[in-house]
Amino acid sequence: MAIKRGVGVSPGVVIGRAVVLETEEARVPRRTIPAALLEHELHLVERSFESARAEVAAEREVFAGRAGDELADIFGFHERWLADPKPRKEISQLIRDKTFSAAYAIGVFMRRYRRRFLEMSSPYLQERAKDILDIERRLLRHVGAEVQQEVATVDEPVIVFAHDLTPSQTVTLERTRKLLGFATDLGGSTSHTAIVARGLGIPAVVGLGDMTSLVSAGDVVILDGSHGVVIVNPDSSQVEEYETQAAHLVEVRHALEGLRDLPAVTKDGERIALLGNIEFPEEVVGAVEKGAEGIGLFRTEFLFLQGGPEPSEEEQFQVYRQAAELLSGRPLVIRTVDLGADKYVQGKVAEPERNPFLGLRSIRYCLQNLAMFRAQLRAIMRASNHGNVRIMFPLITRVMELRQARYLLSLVMEELEEEGYEFRGNIPVGVMVETPAAALCARELAREVDFFSIGTNDLIQYTLAVDRTNEKVAQLYTALNPSVLRLIKMIIDAGDGEQRDMSMCGEMAADPMCTMLLIGMGLRKFSAVANSLPMIKRIVRSITLADAHRVASRVAGFETEREVVNYLRDETRKVAPDLV
Ligand code: PEP
Ligand code: MG
Repeated sequence: MAIKRGVGVSPGVVIGRAVVLETEEARVPRRTIPAALLEHELHLVERSFESARAEVAAEREVFAGRAGDELADIFGFHERWLADPKPRKEISQLIRDKTFSAAYAIGVFMRRYRRRFLEMSSPYLQERAKDILDIERRLLRHVGAEVQQEVATVDEPVIVFAHDLTPSQTVTLERTRKLLGFATDLGGSTSHTAIVARGLGIPAVVGLGDMTSLVSAGDVVILDGSHGVVIVNPDSSQVEEYETQAAHLVEVRHALEGLRDLPAVTKDGERIALLGNIEFPEEVVGAVEKGAEGIGLFRTEFLFLQGGPEPSEEEQFQVYRQAAELLSGRPLVIRTVDLGADKYVQGKVAEPERNPFLGLRSIRYCLQNLAMFRAQLRAIMRASNHGNVRIMFPLITRVMELRQARYLLSLVMEELEEEGYEFRGNIPVGVMVETPAAALCARELAREVDFFSIGTNDLIQYTLAVDRTNEKVAQLYTALNPSVLRLIKMIIDAGDGEQRDMSMCGEMAADPMCTMLLIGMGLRKFSAVANSLPMIKRIVRSITLADAHRVASRVAGFETEREVVNYLRDETRKVAPDLV
């Protein structure tokens, strides 16, 4: 038996047999061809590009039907690459110059090309190497070359293990309807594969280290995508325990559906607002279906992480307008791009930073890339006329940064006015409070904004000095550390003191075990991934304000996170035993 912990990127519990995929580069034997076969091999290259392109287009369509066009755009990189005449020209040149077979020439060219991406410092661009590998495997298949195990050949429901998986492999597996879940050695929660898994609702754990060397095909495996746990060859009591848990999760999900149209109100009548977090505009529909009263966080940087050129002002305007219109008057908080650190743009990789999380990220990146920032602000302001749009600046650490961003916003408004655009001049402006610096001067910031949102994901990493993407220190990363809790309390008190609209949009807001505590600390607005909203509502409807205050004041007296965790688990179990 082996238990491994990784990063749970898509929730759910599944039990099944393992299949271990080889996803290393396909090795094609070196073969040269006689001159008479030259035209034939050149034709093979052309045909393989066209077939692969058609295949990707078909997969995109399948995925779009399941998860929406915007998410399906993950395949845009493949399509654009396969449509580009340059790679096939260079491959053809290799065939002409070196008399390589089509398969071998493709292998040589793709390996070189892939290496270029692997050597880049940006995690985003390194991620694209996976796409290149995926394209190579497709091309080789279409020239009839022997390639290693194809994911589609899996013919019983399985849990797939791979060193890494490309987004399209994930979709191919899902399409065969034999994929129960998947686990990978590499990856973090922001990888495209993780986004695809969530979009498809496949339980998944990534970042498991050397997992693939611990599991063999045919092993029985438990995969818990909610907690990031994988158990290989569990004993019968573990299987029983997780089977019960899986059945229970299904029951809970059904029961929670019944809450959809009920208000999020405590037993003694306190109204709690529930909003959704999204990365793409289509997600608005799912969020509203799960009971979101609006969108509290639209992470717009994902629009910039699709490969290809940066989205233009016009393209962004269409996206923001679409989200605003889908919300029919409900609020839409558009966060300006939070690029940098683990979320890069192509043009940014020339100079790798030593400490990217402390470097040129987020609002700092925007204030040094004014053309891009200005285009986004213009797009948001133009969309403000089509719904209840609000604008939020991320990673503000000082008042001057906020003033600079606001100044730019005012210039953009002047420009738009001169150009005759209509927009909402008094658009609410807010900031994310997600650093200790912002927490400590939250009152000063609050005076200069209409609202703020607490970003616990970053607040935790900066307070506890724990990189949120580093699996080696993942056990130190917790919102329930007393220092983090004190800062959160300080932020809430500052917002209350200045009577500012205030929400929390970090993952802590999505954790039902924290709901009572946060309400007791004074929070009244939660913004979270759509799937967690029914659980939060369930807790809200099961408690009174007095319960919440009692929990918060007890937690305030604890010295260690262990005490906090144990206490919150017990208290949550008392009000909603089925959720713990
Ligand atoms: C946060 O930091 O809590 C947050 C919501 O922003 P992101 O996770 O996108 O950094
Ligand atoms: Mg953040």
